[in-house]
Amino acid sequence: MSEKIYSWGTNRPFNDYSSWFKKRFKQRVQKISIDAGFTCPNRDGTKAWGGCTYCNNDTFNPFYCEPSKSITQQLNEGIAFFEPKYKTQKYLAYFQAYSNTYGSLKLLKKLYEEALSHPKVIGLIIGTRPDCVDDEILNYLAELSQKYFVVVEYGIESTLNRTLELINRQHTHQESVDSITKTAQRGILTGVHMIIGLPGETDEEIINHAKVLSELPITSLKLHQLQIVKGTVLAKQYKKNPESLRLFHPEEYIDLVIRFLENLNPEIIVERFISESPLDLLIAPKWNGLKNFEIVAKIEKRMKELNSFQGKSYC
Ligand code: SF4
Repeated sequence: MSEKIYSWGTNRPFNDYSSWFKKRFKQRVQKISIDAGFTCPNRDGTKAWGGCTYCNNDTFNPFYCEPSKSITQQLNEGIAFFEPKYKTQKYLAYFQAYSNTYGSLKLLKKLYEEALSHPKVIGLIIGTRPDCVDDEILNYLAELSQKYFVVVEYGIESTLNRTLELINRQHTHQESVDSITKTAQRGILTGVHMIIGLPGETDEEIINHAKVLSELPITSLKLHQLQIVKGTVLAKQYKKNPESLRLFHPEEYIDLVIRFLENLNPEIIVERFISESPLDLLIAPKWNGLKNFEIVAKIEKRMKELNSFQGKSYC
C-alpha cells in the first residue's frame, strides 16, 4: 500500500521545517547564531529588570557567539565550524540572543547589512519580542525580504495573559497578535516560539494555544518544553518548592505535543519540538540528553501508530 502524502507534500505526519527548507533552497543551508550585543526591555529596566522567569540567554549561545566579536567574525567562525562537513552550503545569520530588533533603525540596518554583505549569507532570522518592533522597522524588513530570505521570529510563549504575567513577559497576547499580523501583512515570514508547560497551564489550555495560533498568519512554529536552568527566577522557585512546577516526562510530553499538532493549522510549519539547554546549566527535567531529532523520531512513530497527523482535529 502506498503511503499517504499530506497537504504539505510529504508523508511525514506533520508539516516539518526540514522538508520545507529543502524544497525552498534546494541545497544545504545552515543557520549561524549571532550575538549582536542587544539587550531586552525586560532586562534593562525599560519594562522590567531581571527578565522572564525562565530566561538565561547563555543556554543558546554557541562558543563562537560573543558580542565583543564583530558580526563578520562571528559568521566566519561559525562557518569555519560547519564548512568542513558541508563544503557547498549557504548560510543564514541567526540573530538569536536577546531581542534583536531592540535598537535604532540605524543600528539595525548596520548590523543586518553587515551580515548580508557576507558572501555566503543569503538571509536573516531575527529573534525578538512582539513589543520590540514598529512600523518603521517592519517596513525596512519588508524591503529586505524582497531581496533576501528574512524571518522575524517572535517569542510569544503563551496565548494566556495570566501566564504572561506570571512569567514576567511584560507584554500581552494582544501585542503578540498585532505584531504577528503586521509582520505577515508585509509579506515577511513570521515565526513563533512557544513554551509548553508554563506554570499553571492545564493540558486543555496548552491544546488551546494550538487553536489560537491556528488563526494567526504564522509561517513557522518552535515548541519548547519548560526547562529550569541555572541563574533564573524559576530555578529559585524550583529550589524552594519543586512541586509548584510541572515538568514533563518525555513520553507525557510526546503525547501532549501530538494532541497539540492535531489541533494545529496544517499550513503552519513546525520547526522544533524541544529545547536542548546545555547540561551544565540544566536543572530539570533531565531527559538523559535526548536531542530534538530523537524526540521528532518518537513523535513521528507514535503519530503513525495512532493514525494521527497535524490538523486532524483542526477545523
Ligand atoms: S526571554 Fe527574551 S524577552 Fe525574556 S528576558 Fe530573555 S531575552 Fe528578554
